[in-house]
Amino acid sequence: RAKEQGRNSYQFYTEGMQDREMLRLELDKDLSQALANDEFVLFFQPQLDLQTSQIHSAEALIRWQHPRRGLLSPAEFIPLAEESGRITDIGRWVVLAACRQLAKWKGTRFEQLRIAVNLSGRELDDEELVDHIREALVSEDVPADRLEVELTEEIFIQNIEHNLNQLSRLRQLGVHLAIDDFGVGYSSLGYLRDFPVDLLKIDRSFITDVTERHDDAVITRAVINLAHNLGIGVVAEGVETEEQLNFLRHHQCNLVQGYLISRPIPVEDLESALDNGILLPGGTVDSEL
Ligand code: C2E
Ligand code: MG
Ligand code: MG
Ligand code: MG
Repeated sequence: RAKEQGRNSYQFYTEGMQDREMLRLELDKDLSQALANDEFVLFFQPQLDLQTSQIHSAEALIRWQHPRRGLLSPAEFIPLAEESGRITDIGRWVVLAACRQLAKWKGTRFEQLRIAVNLSGRELDDEELVDHIREALVSEDVPADRLEVELTEEIFIQNIEHNLNQLSRLRQLGVHLAIDDFGVGYSSLGYLRDFPVDLLKIDRSFITDVTERHDDAVITRAVINLAHNLGIGVVAEGVETEEQLNFLRHHQCNLVQGYLISRPIPVEDLESALDNGILLPGGTVDSEL
């Protein structure tokens, strides 16, 4: 009986694996057409400046409008695109789309907004990345300091020489550099000395229980102080409650980002929310993803 059960669960397991493998192959095939079919879209999640109570910037988060499966989140296709190498072209599209959005905002009341894009380590491997970003900024005629690049600490573990060079070139362009998911990356703090970083984004996992857990509160305060003492900015990710916001304000965190302010939303929704002044704590904007 146990043997039978064992066999059944084994069978179930392999079927599950086969399903996942089929889905993977299907998505991988669809991914090869997605750019040509214009199926990607950027959602924007605003970052609130706690000092001025103004929206300071917006993080661009990619979604895939899949022809049959609906709106897919990055977790469902970015790892796949990294494996196949298609991430390079997707990343180029993201940068260009962000620059186009910045260009559209020129001369409008949204002119001061900065856009942050996410780049994975795999994208940094591309020798032409910096040239491409420069070309996108030039062709759209937007100042480099409107654009921010978010990188995770993985880039400080491997290919350090190459990555340092890429970051220096990006910084020379005038693009701002942020460390995403700060504090969970298994890398040494030494990179803060060697790399030209502008901003730390405290990982959501520290913020979730920051008002309940002493250790999370200590770590969050330490990161805020670290950033201030290094003379760089600090953002808290994943802020969902007023209590978290008050804690972060009290400890002089510069910026907050999270569902309390707004979920990631289409650009039209961001613009109308800004126009209506509802991107303040309490005036939460909601959407599907
Ligand atoms: P990330 O850059 O750390 O982005 C933050 C993620 O947390 C986003 O998920 C966002 O929707 C979610 N989030 C924001 N506020 C809250 C909150 O208050 N509570 C909770 N529970 N979650 C919150 P999303 O959009 O699914 O993106 C996931 C990850 O995918 C991103 O993590 C980023 O690493 C990656 N990603 C997104 N867009 C791109 C892209 O264009 N290129 C690359 N290479 N990666 C991307
Ligand atoms: Mg990010
Ligand atoms: Mg993050
Ligand atoms: Mg994160």
